[in-house]
Amino acid sequence: MTKPVRDLRIDPDRMLAAFHELAEFGATGDGGVNRPTFSEAHLAARKWFREQIEATGLEFRLDGAGNHSAFLAGADSQAPTLLLGSHLDSVLNGGRFDGALGVMAAFEVLRTVQDAGLARKVSLEAIDFTDEEGTLVGLLGSAALAGRLPAELLQHPRGGREALLEGMQRAGVSDESILQAARPQGSLAGYLELHIEQGKRLERVGINIGIVTAIVGIWSYRLSFLGRADHAGTTTMDDRLDASLGASAFTLAARQLVLKEFPGCVVNVGNMTFGPGAFNIVPAQVDLSLEFRSAEEEEFKRLDSALLACAHEEARRFGLDLRVEALGKHSPSLMSIEVQDTFAAACDDLGLTHLSLPAGAGHDGQSFDGLCPVGMIFVPSKDGASHSPREFTAWADCVRGANALLQTVLKLAL
Ligand SMILES: [Zn+2]
Repeated sequence: MTKPVRDLRIDPDRMLAAFHELAEFGATGDGGVNRPTFSEAHLAARKWFREQIEATGLEFRLDGAGNHSAFLAGADSQAPTLLLGSHLDSVLNGGRFDGALGVMAAFEVLRTVQDAGLARKVSLEAIDFTDEEGTLVGLLGSAALAGRLPAELLQHPRGGREALLEGMQRAGVSDESILQAARPQGSLAGYLELHIEQGKRLERVGINIGIVTAIVGIWSYRLSFLGRADHAGTTTMDDRLDASLGASAFTLAARQLVLKEFPGCVVNVGNMTFGPGAFNIVPAQVDLSLEFRSAEEEEFKRLDSALLACAHEEARRFGLDLRVEALGKHSPSLMSIEVQDTFAAACDDLGLTHLSLPAGAGHDGQSFDGLCPVGMIFVPSKDGASHSPREFTAWADCVRGANALLQTVLKLAL
């Protein structure tokens, strides 16, 4: 007699074996991996993934953006596709769970569904997206697939055009092929992703699964505090227009502002450049890289005004001018309520504890905001470590996450 669908589980040993093999590509010897997009190690990992797919009898698919997929057709060839995935690229000297777990879990879910021989009303696809981490562009593969990658961005990528050209050549893709990877409207039934939390909340409260409510938005500015260069020995302290004072005071004030008035948000001053930049010259200009994040649009706007008002106030206090250059405004992406509820029901069926939380990092799911229902779940990260070889999630937690993904897929796809 065949098992009831709700009793289906992934094969943990099979998934673990694949996960360990994958972690050998770009292994740094300290538990981490170094697989920046289109590096030799990244391409070798993708070649291995392709061989794994082909060995299972699932269909292998490769698109113009280099996205690698395992595909399992639905009952009807016109059926839309429920995408499951993550990314096999890593940051420089990153961990072996970030992205890799999601791809291996998606692949294992397809194998489990295939083995069970269940009829599906949608097609299923386990996808490894190109350049999620932004070594070259950031969310490159998912944005291309969603038809939302501006051609302009490929000319001025954050990793530099030269690096992108070299990488595209190694991977056998081009500007044209990347832009042609867009899927037809209405072809996606949804996008689901399992990922490590990369924070401490789940571990702290001892909860199995985090159901993501929204992926935070990120706004960034370059703020330039403008003063006057003077002799640092002969100019009296009260006669200086020292740009460093405005920049430093703003950095401290921004922290206080967020701590006091915006508890769900974060702010970061990631860089300061001093001009002219010498021991004996009062700084005439400090350029500061400002980034802040929120999961809620209205709060974002309030935080934005408050931070800019604060920058103007600190500039005025030290007699400085302020130049404001807006660099990027990525709105928060809300996860589908229906998918969140389905994840919760799957966790309940499996006897797993769960809580709702926003995702503080960017993820491929935001590329599909408004195109199809999107959902994500997190499993606990030990000490919250990520983008580091210290990244670790207990295997039992990885298996719980993969089973929650499986049961959610079964509820949505059958
Ligand atoms: Zn990731």
